[in-house]
Amino acid sequence: MPGFEFFGDEERKEVNDVLETGIMMRYGFDGPRKGVWKAVELEKAITETFGCKHAQLVSSGTAALTTALAALGIGAGDEVIMPSFTFVASFEAVLSVGAVPILVDIDETLTVNPEAVRQAITPKTKCIMPVHMCGSMADMDALQQICAEHNLLLLEDACQSIGATYKGKALGTIGDAGTFSFDFVKTITCAEGGAVLTNNNDIYIKCDGYSDHGHDHLGVDRGADLHPFIGYNFRISELHAAVGLAQIRKLSKFLAIQRKNHAQLKAILSQIPEITFRSVPDAHGDSCTFLSWFLPTADIMRDVVAELKAKSIYAGNFYWFDNNWHYIRKWHHLKNNATLGALNDSQMATLAKLDSTDFSASDAVISRCISTAISLTWTEEQIQDKGNKIAAVIKQVLQQKLQEA
Ligand SMILES: *Cc1c(COP(=O)(O)O)cnc(C)c1O
Repeated sequence: MPGFEFFGDEERKEVNDVLETGIMMRYGFDGPRKGVWKAVELEKAITETFGCKHAQLVSSGTAALTTALAALGIGAGDEVIMPSFTFVASFEAVLSVGAVPILVDIDETLTVNPEAVRQAITPKTKCIMPVHMCGSMADMDALQQICAEHNLLLLEDACQSIGATYKGKALGTIGDAGTFSFDFVKTITCAEGGAVLTNNNDIYIKCDGYSDHGHDHLGVDRGADLHPFIGYNFRISELHAAVGLAQIRKLSKFLAIQRKNHAQLKAILSQIPEITFRSVPDAHGDSCTFLSWFLPTADIMRDVVAELKAKSIYAGNFYWFDNNWHYIRKWHHLKNNATLGALNDSQMATLAKLDSTDFSASDAVISRCISTAISLTWTEEQIQDKGNKIAAVIKQVLQQKLQEA
């Protein structure tokens, strides 16, 4: 998954271009920057690579979500429907604009269950925010249909699925807006960074202003810019954009390696009849940053995880059910309303109900699931070895269970 595995001369060259001029800010300094505009260049590369009209770079994926929500006009009291399985950034961004995160169950796509989304719609619902977890996608046809029926906005969190597609369209370019993260462990990295993608000019202009103190960026003198609305500082630096520019040129290579390694590992694990795999709404579009697989019961999976750890072969595998960052079960800070300052009334009212909400449908999926991160640097021998070792542990646990029964 991570682009940092292939950091090299290309990245150093792009960063050096910026260091040569010393202009590390993306706006202004037109003379001294001597034609070096890394953020502008990367935004253009994003629109060309993913096939969308506009891209706004920002300082992180979290900032991209926040910026996108703001640009979509989502604010105090508005409900945003999102999955119970995602990175914490998804609800952080919703809370930061004053809106209310409404968490719903996932299914074996590891993304929102469209039926659960339907059930969660209220008169306050403004937006559906699917999260394309672990390299693959939500059922976008179903979600677009729901948005059309209920007149809702669609914001794709594609932070983990850069380069994945759904029916030929890049994830992040299908909804009203989409977001990427370029943090250090994402498919391509800027060290830190993110982007909002959109085909809508109005949304783009709002992202452009919101991420830079509301500046309209219409004049040549930054100090004389007007501020049609209040924004914040979510700017990316030229140094970060420079790293991303070298990385985006390597994306197709990264994706090809991921797909090859994913296929090899999947073929090995497929030999165990008890293993099933994540369902992927468009199998051709999987970016293959992870191989996500299921065992028949949570009990079996727990024993497998313990055994993988005992044998020191767990590294690179993610058992999300026991993980603090990605699944509702351990989001105690969210359930306990643990913010530094007060939230607004609608946020507090909804979060107060979270601990007693039934997520058993999500539990039934996540408690049986491991996602194995696909490395770009694995050799065929290493994949074979890794696959064999995981398979051996699973067979051993299944055998034990059989004897216990
Ligand atoms: C990484 C990630 C983010 C946030 O990105 P940062 O750049 O780390 O702020 C948001 N959503 C998902 C699903 C992510 O994996």
